[in-house]
Amino acid sequence: MRKVGIIGAGIMGSGIAQTVASKGMDVILSDISIENAERGKAGIAKGLAKLVAKEKIAQADVDALLPRITTAGDYAGMGDCDLIIEAATEREDIKLKIFTAVGEVLGAGAILASNTSSIPITRMAASSPDPTRFCGLHFFNPVPVMGLVEVIPGLATSDETTARMKSFGEALGKTVVLAGDAPGFVVNRILCPLLNEAIFVLGEGLASVEDIDAGMRLGANHPMGPLTLADFVGLDTLYEIMKVFQATTGDPKYRPAPLLQKYVEAGWYGRKSGRGFYDYSGETPVPTR
Ligand code: NAD
Repeated sequence: MRKVGIIGAGIMGSGIAQTVASKGMDVILSDISIENAERGKAGIAKGLAKLVAKEKIAQADVDALLPRITTAGDYAGMGDCDLIIEAATEREDIKLKIFTAVGEVLGAGAILASNTSSIPITRMAASSPDPTRFCGLHFFNPVPVMGLVEVIPGLATSDETTARMKSFGEALGKTVVLAGDAPGFVVNRILCPLLNEAIFVLGEGLASVEDIDAGMRLGANHPMGPLTLADFVGLDTLYEIMKVFQATTGDPKYRPAPLLQKYVEAGWYGRKSGRGFYDYSGETPVPTR
């Protein structure tokens, strides 16, 4: 791949942009407005400056990386991209509109991929200009750090598209896992119900935020407690994922925890909004319950 378009400049789109640019490819990072896309790029620059200060990356590498990322508020500049990755809000209506719009500029041999956490690929492919060139490409947060990418072919995805996505993931230095097209694929199918269950436990008053997290860190040897991780993922995103699981499978075991819904309704989305199960306004996160 030479040039990659990324739609959505939030947590994931920014992380993917940084990772792709770090491997020498050009990136167009877009969002609903150029200001949003600029904010995403500024976040990347801030994160990289911290790494330079810690001597984990050379300033010269940052100076080479950042100019490879251009920003946009539309898809006009994506016509010569070899790959366009959609990393917008986890809502199917939003994503379908994006696929129809970006389909107008998608190049003849280019691939359109979605970073969705939960929405079936086959279903979304139907709204893309060519379902043989549509694929799930699921990164993990934070993208520059996490070593895994799931590649999820839909029913109509061609073997060539799957192979190209696998090589792309490997070119980014990631381990690629091929996953079937069922809600949540492999990792989120297992992980998200666990995070949701931790919120049920909190909502039922069985333990405090700190104790639930300590319990899973020390009792199950998880590197991070589930409520810390849920805040990191984004509670709005987790809520949408659980709703997709429930609606797609019809299985009530996937219903979102009522407390998760309440937090989302309150606008408490976790780390990205400054408050979730922890308060992030100070130096160190403080549990809120
Ligand atoms: P986020 O809320 O941080 O960012 C979403 C971005 O999409 C926002 O900047 C928003 O303005 C933008 N957006 C919304 N509608 C748009 C449109 N029509 N065109 C362009 N941009 C639009 O969310 P996120 O955590 O980055 O999640 C993005 C996607 O990645 C979701 O599908 C999510 O499920 C998936 N994902 C998230 C994680 C995670 O841990 N957060 C991990 C893997 C995959």
